[in-house]
Amino acid sequence: MTVQNHSQNMRTQALVVEKAGSPFVLQEILLDEVRNDEVLVEMKYSGLCHTDIVAQHGLMPVGGFPAVLGHEGAGVIRMVGKSVKNKSLEKGKLVLLSFNSCQKCSSCVSGLPGNCPSSTEINFAGTRKSDGSHPAKLLDGTGARGQFFGQSSFSKLAVVHENSVVPCDVSEESLAMMAPLGCGYQTGAGTVLNVLKPTPTTRLAVFGMGAVGCAALLAAKSLGVTHIIAVDILPGKLEFARSLGATETINTGDVDDICAAFAAIGGVEHIIETTGISKLIAQGIKALSHAGKMALVGVPRPDMPIDIDPLNFLMSTKTLVGVIEGQCNPPETLPQLIQLYQQGHFPIDKLGKVYDVQNIEQALEDLKAGTVIKPILSWNSISDTQQ
Ligand SMILES: [Zn+2]
Ligand SMILES: [Zn+2]
Repeated sequence: MTVQNHSQNMRTQALVVEKAGSPFVLQEILLDEVRNDEVLVEMKYSGLCHTDIVAQHGLMPVGGFPAVLGHEGAGVIRMVGKSVKNKSLEKGKLVLLSFNSCQKCSSCVSGLPGNCPSSTEINFAGTRKSDGSHPAKLLDGTGARGQFFGQSSFSKLAVVHENSVVPCDVSEESLAMMAPLGCGYQTGAGTVLNVLKPTPTTRLAVFGMGAVGCAALLAAKSLGVTHIIAVDILPGKLEFARSLGATETINTGDVDDICAAFAAIGGVEHIIETTGISKLIAQGIKALSHAGKMALVGVPRPDMPIDIDPLNFLMSTKTLVGVIEGQCNPPETLPQLIQLYQQGHFPIDKLGKVYDVQNIEQALEDLKAGTVIKPILSWNSISDTQQ
């Protein structure tokens, strides 16, 4: 592929959401210049995450429209800004893209960028923090939300912030299945490995067997956890969870209260909650053992308050912890997870399904129907940049 004009206004194709609730439409956009702390990435694949759909519908507190979303990119570096700090980021290098962070606050400096207080603004605003400029524009010059999670990877070419770029030593063929590591998979696996830290005898439950839940299950299995309880409402997903290593399942459609269901199988000590369903969260807290721990990953709906019994909570030493991006530091976590995959202990290839980017509507439909765990969009059918 040829990128002739590096300086400004490169044309490329991207999925654009015109306004809140509009569909993803593949169209030409203009990219702004690649600045000193940025990298031009040619996308090969981009995972489709639930947060993209939430943002598409304008349900995030920050960020305008039109918008180029996508935050599980995987591709190849085409150009590197002059002062990019990571010297292993070179032209031609395969990379995974992850979330952005300020790299200045105490959380970022201590290697916990998921806890960065500027995280929401940096990842959702879609303009450069330095001067509010737009890394992406429509052909008529209207500024679009770009660098969503530092990347806006629903684009054949993207101007990505250096903090979002992680080099990875994998073959181009395996890159597709790696793309969701940058958000969904690291969120699930990181919550287990970095936050809950179960031992082999811990009774661990996963609420919601989507991509995050399945990655959490695989991570727990990699630690040798012997009781992994999958909780979902779709029988197909529970069956799939069993094939991944779940030892017990609870179908929330079959029980009135999951507390009784947990009691019947010996209780639960760790829960990773990915559904955001208030009723499930409340019942899960109740079901936890005396010193149990629940990690909240799914965002509860603001209009559905969580009904917590304070006495049940106070008379125990239960812990409830909110987790962002699995408390991961992508430059460290992603290579670790890739290694785990290569050793056969984190078989994420069972979770992903590749769709041509032009079939995004099908991917969204399958995700909604629960017939696919993680749709991954391929950019390989989209032609070279036009100048
Ligand atoms: Zn920070
Ligand atoms: Zn995500």
